[in-house]
Amino acid sequence: MTRRYATTTRVLGVVSLGATLLVGGAVPNANAYSPFVNTCSDPTIHWEFSGTNWTSTKKGWVRDSFNTIDNALDFDGSSLARATEDSGVEVSLVDFTDNTYGKANCSQGTIKLDESKTVDKFYWKVARHEMLHLMGAEHGGDADSKDGENPPTMSTCINWTDFRDANDLSRDDGAYLMFLHSTLAERQIHANVGFERGFSNWGANEGEVIEHDAGGSGGPKHIGFKAESSANSSYVYQTARVWTGSSSKFFRGTFHAKSQASDLTSNAKIAIYYRELVEATPANGCDYRGMITNPNDPTLASGAWTALVGTNLTSVGTSWTALQSNWQGLSGADGYEIQVRVYGKATENDGTVRQIRFDTARSDLQ
Ligand SMILES: [Zn+2]
Repeated sequence: MTRRYATTTRVLGVVSLGATLLVGGAVPNANAYSPFVNTCSDPTIHWEFSGTNWTSTKKGWVRDSFNTIDNALDFDGSSLARATEDSGVEVSLVDFTDNTYGKANCSQGTIKLDESKTVDKFYWKVARHEMLHLMGAEHGGDADSKDGENPPTMSTCINWTDFRDANDLSRDDGAYLMFLHSTLAERQIHANVGFERGFSNWGANEGEVIEHDAGGSGGPKHIGFKAESSANSSYVYQTARVWTGSSSKFFRGTFHAKSQASDLTSNAKIAIYYRELVEATPANGCDYRGMITNPNDPTLASGAWTALVGTNLTSVGTSWTALQSNWQGLSGADGYEIQVRVYGKATENDGTVRQIRFDTARSDLQ
């Protein structure tokens, strides 16, 4: 390893239910993080236990933690990142004398965890937090994932007892790994963009979603969407929080659509909406990138969504068609909620509504 990054974490989470809505619903699912990458960037990390004071129980908790990372899926269903136990990054226990929970260092190839803790979820959350640092992740906020999986793994400046009880990769973590390591061009700010985890992380407005396990545009899975209203008001959506720290960022929408039969009239479009996030004050003293000082407990500048950019409603045939908006910039706010909306409707000649198919839906960030 030639890259260097050291970090201290005092972290994490709260229990709640994640919901997958198949029909209707006004609850926007969100993921969030700062769109910054540290000097660590390897999606495949080999690691080993090192040093003294390990018990088989603590080793089991750390293995269980790292094993959740390969649950994040790229647009085609492949794993985005993997932590493999053999030899490499040395994971050791340290008797920290301050309130440090763990540290990760790229150039030294080390992860250090506080040996004084004897609770499973401490090791689940802190070990994953440090490993994600080694994979390039920076700190985000404690309320970044609004689908009931807060605080996500990369939040900091919270007590470990506030971690979620479950040992799993939150959807926010999955979105961040997508941003860091997707094989698609550009950076993707959403999770499950290829619907390889079904409709997880998405919501539907004025329409019904049907999950399909084969025939997608990239990976096998995709969705069908039966509009309940017009093609201009029936859509699926996903929200991501992006902490830009006032730096300017550009967004565009991209997805694939197709008609399921040649005798249908099928139209689709994509739009990106946003609303501004305001950081809490004062600064909380934790380490964030990009002039971010306290993303914990943020507020919205306004409850209203503003249209940023999109495509016209476009007729699609029975082959997958890529639809993409122009890039559009945003700047000046601490951060944004970016909502991608994929619209569409398929009808027979007599007006009967059928499914239109969607895949690889997301907002890119530049
Ligand atoms: Zn950290």
